[in-house]
This record gives sequence, structure tokens and C-alpha cells, in this order.
Amino acid sequence: MTKKIRIGNVFIGGGEPIAIQSMTNTDTMDTESTVKQIIELEDAGCEIIRVAAYDLESAANIRNIKDRISIPIVADVHFDFRIAIKAIECGADKVRINPGNIGSEDNIRKVADCAKMHKVPIRVGANTGSLSKRHIETEKSEALVTSALDNIRVLEKYGFNDIVVALKASDAVNTVKAYEIISKIVDYPLHIGVTEAGTERNSLIKSAIGIGSLLLNNIGDTIRVSMSDNPVKEIYAAKDILQFSGKRRFRPEIISCPTCGRTRIDLIGLVKEVEEKLKDIKKPIKVAVMGCVVNGPGEAGDADMGVAGGTDEGLIFLRGKVIKKVEYSQIADELKTLAEEY
Ligand code: SF4
Repeated sequence: MTKKIRIGNVFIGGGEPIAIQSMTNTDTMDTESTVKQIIELEDAGCEIIRVAAYDLESAANIRNIKDRISIPIVADVHFDFRIAIKAIECGADKVRINPGNIGSEDNIRKVADCAKMHKVPIRVGANTGSLSKRHIETEKSEALVTSALDNIRVLEKYGFNDIVVALKASDAVNTVKAYEIISKIVDYPLHIGVTEAGTERNSLIKSAIGIGSLLLNNIGDTIRVSMSDNPVKEIYAAKDILQFSGKRRFRPEIISCPTCGRTRIDLIGLVKEVEEKLKDIKKPIKVAVMGCVVNGPGEAGDADMGVAGGTDEGLIFLRGKVIKKVEYSQIADELKTLAEEY
């Protein structure tokens, strides 16, 4: 089990629920837009937010943003250790530094000293895009591990152990390999994700493979789905990956059949309608929407409730037993009522 650490008002590692993280894409100097986006992300389920601290002024503006949000804020710093120090002094709950580009060991020590004084953890983030020359020559996943370890050891040398580790490659294979290796070497919490995963569809698949494989092997304490899109979509994807990996439950799970030659109802339209009607229900129930009477209740035996379609009608079942027959137009409402009462 990883070590438990605190990021503002959230604990990660040590068996805590796996936290969902995202990053703003507004200008950190634009306080209004950044706060607005963070609140949207928080409403969607984001639990830790990272912002770009790209110079001393944007690092200082973290203070103004933090005053108006309630989730922990992480400063993302590259190149200049003084920005990390400024961010910590201005209220960042964690700093992410990329040791491949932060400069000398002495720079890292200065950040560590400041973080220690303010009880702020440091995320050591190695990614394949910013490996040092020495590391680039080895295999990608090993290079990520070696690069992160070098920097972890520097922090440890100066008595700093409040560390989160991230190793990011833009493909799922190297990401998974790297985390598997490092999880056997250190017990620091791991922030996992496939970096620069692309547009929505690519990101969903890459992240489901990369993050999902790690979660199934009990690796990962915080997750981020990287997506070239509205970051709110990252949160929905992260929640789904956690739910479908069996790590957290946020909403009903709707299972539905792929349809076949036996289907006599508009099953595809019906599933969409059921999803829409159940979207505000938070209960961790399983609802089956199956296309035919013959196989429906049997195939969906482990669902809490569901429907097996007939010709313009459906048999509603509850815990495997048929309880009534309703017209097609009533099916989604019937399931909603059952879900609410369950
Ligand atoms: Fe076909 Fe029925 Fe299976 Fe759906 S549940 S795929 S309609 S056999």
C-alpha cells in the first residue's frame, strides 16, 4: 500500500478513494475564467485541480483563485524553481515540478525546503517529452522510472518525503510498464494517466487501457484523463474508468445488449432514453436494457432491475423476476421510478 499524504483538504494514497484530477485550460492570470472553470469541474466531480504557473505573476495569482474554490489547487511548474517557491508561498496545496527541466540539484533542494516549511507535497512528474539526454537513450518506460527515481532520491537526500510520483508516456503500453516498475520500488502515492492522449475518442480508449490496466492491478492513487477537449469531459471519463474498474461507484450502471435479428423494439433509442432519465440518480445500481424476452432476464440476471423488449412493449423485471408488462413509451419512466424507489 502507498503512503498516505495530504493535498489541502484531500488525502491520497494509503487506501483512500482514488481521487480525480484535472487541469484548467484558462489563463491562470484570468482569475474569473479560471475560477469559473474550476467550479464547473468541481461540480462534475473533480477533486484536485492543477493550474499552469508559467511565471512569477501567475504563480502569485494562485492566492486569488484559491480564495474562491474549495478543492485543492496544484501549481504546474516548469523551468524555473522560483515559480514553484512563489506558488507555494501563495497557497498552492501541491506543486508539480518536472525534474527534467527544473535545473540543478540545488534548485530542487530550494523547492523542497520551501515545500517542507509549508507542508506542501511535491509531485515529481517525469514524462517522455522532457527526459534528460542521459535518460533518453534507454527504453522509454525504464527511462521514465530512472528519471523520476533520480529526482526522488534528490528530494529524499534533503529530508523531503512528501512526494507524489507521475510517469507519463503518450501511449498506454509505456505508461503501464513504467508504473508497474516504479510501484515495486517506491511507496509514494502514484498519480496515473496517459499524457497527451489526444482528442476525445483516442483519449477515452488510451486512458481506459492505460489507467484501467493499472487500476485493475491496484496501482494508482489519483487519476487524470488527458483530453484535447473541454476538461469537464475528462472528469466524466475519469469517473467512468473508476466505476468500470470497480474502484468507485458514482451512478447506476446501465447494461444493454448489442441487438440482433430477434430485436423487435427500438432498443438503441430506448437505452439512450433510460440513460437520460437515470442521469441524476446517484445510486450504485445495475439496470439492464435487453432487446428480447427470451434472453433478456436470463442474460441480465445479475442486474438489480431491467427490461426485456417485446414488440412495442417490454417486460419489466426486478431482481431477476418479471413484475409487469408495459408499453414501449412507458419503459424508461417505469425504470426510473423503480430506480428511485430501489
Ligand atoms: Fe438479441 Fe435478445 Fe441478446 Fe438482445 S438480448 S442481443 S435481442 S438475443
